[in-house]
Amino acid sequence: PVEKLSVGSGPEPPAAAFDTILILDFGSQYTHLITRRLRDLGIYSEMLPCTAKLEEIKALQPKGLIFSGGPYSVYEAGAPHVEDAVFDLGLPILGICYGLQEIAYHQDDKSVGAGTHREYGHATLNLQHNEDRPELTRLFDGLGSTMEVWMSHGDKLQDLPAGFEVIAKTTNAPFAGIAHSDKLMYGIQFHPEVTHTKNGIAIIKNFAVGVCKCKSEWNMTKFAKIEIQRIRELVGEKGEVIGAVSGGVDSTVAAKFMHEAIGDRFHAVLVDNGLLRLNEAEQVHKTLTVDLGINLRVQDASARFLDLLKGVTEPEQKRKIIGNQFIREFESVAKEIDEKSGGKIEYLLQGTLYPDVIESISFKGPSQTIKTHHNVGGLLKDMKLKLIEPLRELFKDEVRKMGRELGISAELVGRHPFPGPGIAIRILGEITPEQTRIARHADSIFIEEIRSAGLYDQIAQAYAALLPVKAVGVAGDKRTYEQVIALRAVETSDFMTCDWFEFEAKFLRKQDEGKSHSHVDVDNKDQRSLANRVEAEKKH
Ligand code: GLN
Repeated sequence: PVEKLSVGSGPEPPAAAFDTILILDFGSQYTHLITRRLRDLGIYSEMLPCTAKLEEIKALQPKGLIFSGGPYSVYEAGAPHVEDAVFDLGLPILGICYGLQEIAYHQDDKSVGAGTHREYGHATLNLQHNEDRPELTRLFDGLGSTMEVWMSHGDKLQDLPAGFEVIAKTTNAPFAGIAHSDKLMYGIQFHPEVTHTKNGIAIIKNFAVGVCKCKSEWNMTKFAKIEIQRIRELVGEKGEVIGAVSGGVDSTVAAKFMHEAIGDRFHAVLVDNGLLRLNEAEQVHKTLTVDLGINLRVQDASARFLDLLKGVTEPEQKRKIIGNQFIREFESVAKEIDEKSGGKIEYLLQGTLYPDVIESISFKGPSQTIKTHHNVGGLLKDMKLKLIEPLRELFKDEVRKMGRELGISAELVGRHPFPGPGIAIRILGEITPEQTRIARHADSIFIEEIRSAGLYDQIAQAYAALLPVKAVGVAGDKRTYEQVIALRAVETSDFMTCDWFEFEAKFLRKQDEGKSHSHVDVDNKDQRSLANRVEAEKKH
C-alpha cells in the first residue's frame, strides 16, 4: 500500500526552513484565515488541532503560537484545551476569542463565564499604548487609539486573571485585550483575521514580527528552490516517479516541479476518460510536452468509461465508477511504465493542497461527506509506492504563484478548477455521448463568453450543468420542448468558502449579433438562445 509520509517529511520541510507561527485550532470557522493572513505577510504558518501532542508542536519549531477561536465554552465539560505544558514552552502566545478565554481559564478557571448577551458584529475598540513598557502593547504598534473590530462571542472574561493587564476595551467588554505583565502572552476578544476588523492584519503582523521576531521570508521563489532540492534528495540519483495529470493548475504545477527536480525520471500520465472539456486532451498534451517539456503518456480510455456509465444517474455512483476506473487505467499504465524502466518507480506524485490537509486536521470532529473526492490515495497497491506531495503546504493562490515562478503560462495558471469526474457530474441524469456533447459545448460557450467579457479572472469557477428536465419555450415562432442548462459562477479566494458571482444583466442578456453564439433572452422570441445554439451544435 501507499505509505503516507508525514507533513513536510524529507530533508527540508518548510517549517524547518522558514520562521514559523503555529496556529492551534479550537474549531473556529475562521482558523484557516489566520494561516492565510500570515502567509500573505510572508510568514510561514501551519495549523494543528488544539489537541496536538507536545512533540508534534515542538517538531515544527514554531517561533510563536496562536490559539484560534472556537464554538465551545472553555468552562463546559468536554471543552477542548491545550496540554498544560504548551504554556511552559516559553513561546509567545496570542489567543483570539476562545483562545483568549483559554489563556484566562488556564490561569484562573473562574475568570470566564457566560455574558449577558451575545456580541456578534462590529465594535469600537479602545486601544492602550504603554510607553513605559512597550512590549505589553506591542500588538497595537502603529495603530491609533481606536479601531473597528469584529466580535463573535457569548462568553466573556469576568475578571482579569492574575498576572495580566488590560490593553484594550470596548463598551461591552472591559477585557477586550489583555497582556501578561512579564510573559509574552496576549489575548484579544475580537477577530483580527476577518476583513470586518479594519487593519486586523497589523495586529497579526505585530505579533509575528514584533513579538515573535519572525523574518518575512516565505515566498514561492525561495520555497521552490528548497522544495526542488528536497525532492531531488528524497528520490535519489536513480529513483523514478509517476503521477497523474489532468491539465488543471495543481497537477500541472506538481508535474513541472517534478520535471525540474528529476527531469524525465518523472512520468506524467493523462487518462482521457472521455469526460474532459472540449479539445482538452489535445490541449493538455501540447502544453505539457511542447511548452513544459514534461514526459507525458496519454491513455485514451473514453470508450471504457462511457460504457461503464451507461444507465447510471445517481451522482455518487457516477463518481465512484469514474474514480475506480481511473485507478484501473492509471494502474495499468503505471505497471507498463514501471516494467519498461526496470522496476525503478518508487514514488507516486499527488497534488494535495493545504486546504485538503486543513480539512483533515481541523478540530471539528468527523464532518459529513458532501461528495467523494476524486482521490488517488489508495492507488497502486502492489507497487508499494511512497507518496510525494510537493504542494501539500500551499494554498491555491500560492500554487498559482508557484506556477508562474516555474514558467507556466498565465492562462493555464489562472484556470478555473475542473473536477476529476469532469463533465460527467455536470450532466444530471444519464451520461450518453449525446448529453456529453451538449454539456461540453455549453461549457465551452459559457466560458468563451465569460472570457470575451473580460470576467474570467474575476470568477473563481464557472460551469454549465445540463439538467434532466425539459421545459416548453418558443423559438422562431415554434414551440420547443427542450432540456434546461444551468449556468453557475462563483467567487472565492481560498476555495473553501464561496459566494455567487453577480453578473450584470447586460452580460446575461447579451444578444447573438449574428456571430458565434448567444444567450438566453426570454423577451425575444427570435433570439438564438444558448440552448438553441446547443441544439444547432447537436445537429452538425
Ligand atoms: N464560544 C466562545 C464564546 O462564545 C468563543 C467564541 C469564539 O471563539 N468565536 O465566547
